[in-house]
Amino acid sequence: MEARYWHLLNDGRLCCEVCPRECRLAEGQRGVCFVRTRQEGRLILETYGRSTGFCLDPIEKKPLNHFLPGTATLSFGTAGCNLTCKFCQNWHMSKSRQVDDLAVQATPEAIARAARHFSCGSVSFTYNDPVIFLEYAVDTAIACHQQGVKTVAVTAGYIQGAAREEFFRHMDAANVDLKAFSDAFYRRLVGGHRQVVLETLEYLAKETKVWLEITTLLIPGENDSIQELEDQCRWMVDHLGEGVPIHFTAFHPDWRMLDKPRTSLAILNRAMEIAGKNGVRYAYTGNVADPRGGSTWCPGCGKLTIGRTGWNITAWHLNEKGACQHCGMVCPGVFAAKPGTWGSKRIPVRMG
Ligand code: SF4
Repeated sequence: MEARYWHLLNDGRLCCEVCPRECRLAEGQRGVCFVRTRQEGRLILETYGRSTGFCLDPIEKKPLNHFLPGTATLSFGTAGCNLTCKFCQNWHMSKSRQVDDLAVQATPEAIARAARHFSCGSVSFTYNDPVIFLEYAVDTAIACHQQGVKTVAVTAGYIQGAAREEFFRHMDAANVDLKAFSDAFYRRLVGGHRQVVLETLEYLAKETKVWLEITTLLIPGENDSIQELEDQCRWMVDHLGEGVPIHFTAFHPDWRMLDKPRTSLAILNRAMEIAGKNGVRYAYTGNVADPRGGSTWCPGCGKLTIGRTGWNITAWHLNEKGACQHCGMVCPGVFAAKPGTWGSKRIPVRMG
């Protein structure tokens, strides 16, 4: 598949414009993401139509807590990544250098039909960062919308310019990783620039109708200081508004960061508290057993609006307009009159 968003440079190299890396490629070279490659003078996306596998997941696993709660989402990813996080929790796919091992082939139309067949509320582009397979994700999103299925991007938001506009134009919801609130962290542990991610978040919040939630994986001693979390939460409120939910999720040692301990529940709860004190209305914990931190509490009256244990919905106190049944305060998000009943199941799907 010929890729979009590239131009030729005066020195004969080809420059990919999708992300701020702007890889400059001679014939036969690959970008940092590994899957966009120069062949016969053009930029090719090698993973178009090919995936590491499909799975029916709870939407809460993405994580999205304010987008069609309780529904299943047909999830898939490909290979490669345009960031180089030392703590990657999905490195089997993001660091894959075996494009030929992407054994599952599926057209955008087949994915959309499968999502309909399984009564999924959405298809999620996830597991590795979908911005590097933009053309496949966009075509799949178009096919999904033709079938009445919504689309979800789970991304680090490291995308720029016209590519960013096209990519998100076809998404109904996004969970964007804000990996830390320090440039040094992004430089040292992520291999990117924080400012680009902040620009993507502002773009989503101010210039699109994409439902936005944010995830920050808290790594003990790296990005969990009180000061940094206060700065992050204040920035969120000032630049995105009070209603964008944040998920503070627990780290476990993985990939090239094996020397740090797992994140304790106490650290996650402290982050939630800091978020609340700084004006963020919806803060959650994730990757831990914490029914209180996983549930939605009305900022108007303090009462429970959506109860969760893990990925199961255990209580529902929103009316058909998505407002708190206790006090009437509207809960921002995309809600059906009733929650779905998918629960916590994860079911691999064989396409074909
Ligand atoms: S998407 Fe891939 S090839 Fe394009 S600039 Fe980013 S890392 Fe390089």
